Amino acid sequence: MTDPLLDVRGLKTSFETGQGTLTAVDGISFNIESGEVFGVVGESGSGKSVTALSVMRLLDDAGTVEADAVRFDGTDLLSLTESEMRSIRGGEISMIFQDPMTSLNPVMTIGEQIAEVVRHHGDAGERAGFWSEMTRKYVTGTSTDSHSWQRAVELLETVGIPEPEKRATEYPHQLSGGMRQRVVIAQALAGDPSLIIADEPTTALDVSIEAQILNELLELSDEFGISVLLITHDLGVVAEICDRIAVMYASEFMETGHVDDIFEDPHHPYTEGLLASIPRIDDDREWLSVIEGTVPDLIDKPSGCPFRDRCEYAFELCDRPLVEYEVDAPGTESHIVRCHRENEHVPVDESGHVGEVTDEAVAALERRLDVEARGPDAPTASPVDASARTDGGDRLGPAEADADGGDGDEY
Ligand code: ADP
Ligand code: MG
Repeated sequence: MTDPLLDVRGLKTSFETGQGTLTAVDGISFNIESGEVFGVVGESGSGKSVTALSVMRLLDDAGTVEADAVRFDGTDLLSLTESEMRSIRGGEISMIFQDPMTSLNPVMTIGEQIAEVVRHHGDAGERAGFWSEMTRKYVTGTSTDSHSWQRAVELLETVGIPEPEKRATEYPHQLSGGMRQRVVIAQALAGDPSLIIADEPTTALDVSIEAQILNELLELSDEFGISVLLITHDLGVVAEICDRIAVMYASEFMETGHVDDIFEDPHHPYTEGLLASIPRIDDDREWLSVIEGTVPDLIDKPSGCPFRDRCEYAFELCDRPLVEYEVDAPGTESHIVRCHRENEHVPVDESGHVGEVTDEAVAALERRLDVEARGPDAPTASPVDASARTDGGDRLGPAEADADGGDGDEY
C-alpha cells in the first residue's frame, strides 16, 4: 500500500486559558488517501476546526500543537518553516470555510482574486515580482488576455458558474451565497491542490444549494483526484459524500471507518446515539437532544472515555484511558472504535450491556496501555495478545514518526 496523502498520528492541541488548560484535540490519528473524501463529524465544540487549523499550522501562539506525525505527501508539516508552510497553504492544501466572505476580498473582482492564486501557486509561468504584482492588483488589474485571467474564467466555469467571463469582472457582493462559495472552491482549485480542507463549507447555505455545493466538491474530487477533508456537524452531509469518516466527541475520535460500515454497524454508543437522533425534515430539534447529559468540560479534562457520563452502557473500565480496538469490517477498510466494550475479554450481552468484568479483561487492557506507553516497537516483558497489535493511538518517541507503513494500522 502506498503512503497516505495525509497521515496524522497522535495530534494533541491545547490552549492555556484563565481557567486552566483546555484540550481541544486529544491524541487523534487518521489518514487520508489520494482522491478520498474523509469526513470529520461532531457537534459544535468537539474540536473539528482546531484539528484543521492544527494541521495547517494556523493557530495563533495561544495553542500548543503536539503530534507524533503530521505528514503530507511524505513531508513532515510540523518541521517546515513558516515560509515553506505558506507556500503549501493555498497551493497543495487549500482551505474552504463556512463563510465565503472570510476568504474573499470585498474590493477585488472575483477574476482578479482567482488569477492571483493562479500566479502564486498554480502556474509559475506568469509569476511576477512584488511591485509588478502590487501594480497589477491595485492599479492596472490583470489583463483579460493573460493566462492567469483565462485560467480564472475556466475555473469559474469548472465550478458551475454561468457566464464566467462576465462574473469574473464582478465583486463578491454581486453574487449569491451559493455562488460565492463556488468562487471560493474555484479559488481553492487555482492553487492546484491535492488536498482541500473544507470546514463546514455548506452550513451557511440553503439545503438545496448545500446539496449542489457538496456534489460539486465530490465531482471535483473524482475528476481531479483531489482528496477532501470535510468537516461538518451534519451526519447527512457525511453520508452524502464521504468515503470514510471519523466521529469526534469532546476532542477525541470515538469511531473511524468506512461511512457505510459506520452507518450500518456503529460500534460506539455515541455514534449509535447520533445515528438515532438524525433530525427528520419536519423536526428542527438540535440533533443531539436525544442523548441526555452534556459534553464534558475540556478544561482539565479527566482521562478515560469522555462519553461515559452520558453512556447507558458505561462500566468499570470506562474511566481507564481509551485504546483503539479494531472491529471486523466487511470491506477491506479498517473500522476503529475507542470503547472498552470492544475488549475481547469483556462480556457484552445481546442488549449491549456489560456483565461482570473479569481480571482477564483488566489484564488485557493493562497490556494494551503498557504497549502504547512504551511505543509499538519496544520489547514487551509479557506476551501481548492479538488485540495489542491494533495500536496507533498515543505513540512515544520520534522513531515511529518516520516509519512508513509496516505497523499495520492503516485506517
Ligand atoms: P468545532 O469546530 O468542533 O465546533 P473547535 O475546534 O472550534 O470546535 O473548538 C474546540 C474547543 O476548543 C472549544 O471548546 C473551543 O472553545 C476551544 N478553542 C478553540 N479555539 C480556541 C482558542 N484560540 N483559545 C481557546 N480555546 C479555543
Ligand atoms: Mg468549527
